[in-house]
Amino acid sequence: MTDSVRRAGAILLLLLGGAALWWAGSGATSAASANDVMVATIAAAREHAAENDPRLKGASRFEDGGWIYAHLEGEAGAIGYQHGYLLAPEIEDAFAAVSAGMMHSTERDWEFFRKTAHEMLWPRIDAEYQQELQGIVDGLRARTDSKLDVDDIVAFNAFEELPDYYVPWLNKQQKLAKTPNLKSPGNCSAFVATGSWTKDGLIVMAHNNWTSYMNGERWRIVFDIAPKNGYRILMDGFPGVIASDDDFGINSDGLMVTETTITQFEGWDPRGKAEFVRARKALQYAGSIDEYTKIMLDGNNGGYANDWLLGDRKTGEIAQLELGLKAYKLWRTKDGVLAGSNWARDPKVLKEDAPEFDPNNKDSSPNARHARWDDLLKENKGKIDVPLAEEMLGDHTDSFEKKEDVDERTLCGHVDASPRGVSVWGWTPFYPGGAVQGKATDAAMAREMRIVARMGHPCGGNFLAKPFLAAHPEYAWQEPYLRDMNAGPWTEFRSNQTAGK
Ligand SMILES: [Zn+2]
Repeated sequence: MTDSVRRAGAILLLLLGGAALWWAGSGATSAASANDVMVATIAAAREHAAENDPRLKGASRFEDGGWIYAHLEGEAGAIGYQHGYLLAPEIEDAFAAVSAGMMHSTERDWEFFRKTAHEMLWPRIDAEYQQELQGIVDGLRARTDSKLDVDDIVAFNAFEELPDYYVPWLNKQQKLAKTPNLKSPGNCSAFVATGSWTKDGLIVMAHNNWTSYMNGERWRIVFDIAPKNGYRILMDGFPGVIASDDDFGINSDGLMVTETTITQFEGWDPRGKAEFVRARKALQYAGSIDEYTKIMLDGNNGGYANDWLLGDRKTGEIAQLELGLKAYKLWRTKDGVLAGSNWARDPKVLKEDAPEFDPNNKDSSPNARHARWDDLLKENKGKIDVPLAEEMLGDHTDSFEKKEDVDERTLCGHVDASPRGVSVWGWTPFYPGGAVQGKATDAAMAREMRIVARMGHPCGGNFLAKPFLAAHPEYAWQEPYLRDMNAGPWTEFRSNQTAGK
């Protein structure tokens, strides 16, 4: 059977099936439910017609361990189309949660974000990524009756940088009398190690993503991207967003990339290029630490300012790029470990870009985890490998209390259990956020384009939404979006993977 005959057969069967359902339904039930069946039939027929789109050629998706693996390939527009089509239900769902969060925290309406995306971000996005973003809209609309357009998708892609970097800067510019208390986020615990620190002397890299559970429970995509131009990419990510965004990824030229954000960062350049574009571009086109640094600096807008932890498996070298807006610093070594838990350390970056941050406040989440990383990594010098990294990401030692606990100061964060919250990020007591998933890889795995990943708290603990909301009615506004976050098993993913193989 040729492909087209098979396809025609599938569509015919589908239409027959729909008609049979409709016929069965119309006799026994109300006209309304018959109408529902017709709507569903038409939607299914549209979906099948869209499946014949040549832009979908080569794209695939499967689920494993709580993750959704999406393979995308080809020209920029096709990559976007495949992304929008394969992940349409997840994009709609994530957009609703993320846009609600952006409007809630900033007290700005969605039109504000659309306008910002259109006027400030879009003109500075490379043509390749403009095509990919438009492709997401086209794929989404081919699959569903989505009303989202490219301004929505661009604003959504900037969900880490517009509310917590641009809006506080804008509020200051506009000298508004009363503004919400917006602070740059503190996302993640991570390290990269090499040389005498690791078991095999080669690079090991690990990261857990800290964010709200509302968003984090949706941060469950593994993107395998084979772009027409640039290097092959394997990264975790968020539905509808073109960068990894919590940032854990490897490329086929040997670059290994992760980061943690800079707490209490302040600043924005409206003439700069969106961070989500630079981060995606750097992972796709950088074959060395120098090239990565150059792409991140080009058009730096200050958005989502991070301490980038990098590895080059070709040379065994690791690096930390502390990327402020007014200042930045690059450290590099072939024998060492570089850790991150949301603290800047270069005196110039601290002074100029994060002036409020106090590195000496030992009970704050970034500094307490900093101390824990120092101890834990030193204890394990020479033994670090991926299984040990998995354990470290689930670590529950509170270095300030000097005991095991489950709170905001542990590498595996559970801020919902903390009466303190994390004030430096504006996270109020019992904020439903913390470590939402973890990933790890090493040089040998990266050579074969493999990573391991665990959905949910890296320690394996579950978060249950209903009892949490009952105990903490102050977070009732999240009720439509906040779901249970159950931990999956550590699961391996690799490039070119298909279901069950
Ligand atoms: Zn935990």
